[in-house]
Amino acid sequence: MNIILLGPPGAGKGTQARHLVEMRNMVQLSTGDMLRESKDSGTEMGKIVADVMARGDLVTDEIVIGLIREKIEAENGGGFIFDGFPRTLAQADALGDLLDATGQTLDAVIEMEVDDDALVARITARSTCGNCGEVYNDQFKPQPADGKCSVCGASDFKRRADDNEESLRNRLMEYYKKTSPLIGYYYAKGDLTKVNGLGEITGVQTAIAGVLDH
Ligand code: AMP
Repeated sequence: MNIILLGPPGAGKGTQARHLVEMRNMVQLSTGDMLRESKDSGTEMGKIVADVMARGDLVTDEIVIGLIREKIEAENGGGFIFDGFPRTLAQADALGDLLDATGQTLDAVIEMEVDDDALVARITARSTCGNCGEVYNDQFKPQPADGKCSVCGASDFKRRADDNEESLRNRLMEYYKKTSPLIGYYYAKGDLTKVNGLGEITGVQTAIAGVLDH
């Protein structure tokens, strides 16, 4: 089963994707994570995308489609969760072609609906474990008092360079201008289901499970 998690930055796509990986043995394909890895490892591509990402602009379609193509051709598992991809209509068309070419289908597109004020609050309070990627929030899910990640025990927490208010405003604008048309695109294809992304993490997990087991 291959699915897309669609929603603005801070909607909880990464958190929900990690849960699906754990529970259903699915493979998370996050273009944001792939781009951050190439930035951190100092590759040529990483150098090209670093400024673009820091501003909160979108990286070119060509680059992200290339990253996804490699993964779709290489990995296999209980299905792919596309997290943060596609973000433009051209990416959505390319994904459809890639899945067709490898004899796969897109089974669901889950739109995670959230309130814009909640996004700003969530993102500016966000940190993650540098080792396992567990997501924390200063207000709702603070880092453990002993300074160790509750999942893996590491004590190296990170905040993303683009999780500041200025970049976030730009990321939101990019979302509304370039990504939100995908809601209509997938609705018209009959693939779209909306889930309320504002509740407790477990409530959102249940809602997504309901869509997948439908
Ligand atoms: P994310 O981790 O999904 O919030 O992505 C972080 C940043 O990586 C975005 O603000 C973009 O600069 C870039 N990025 C991630 N995925 C894509 C994509 N599918 N298309 C273009 N840029 C992307």
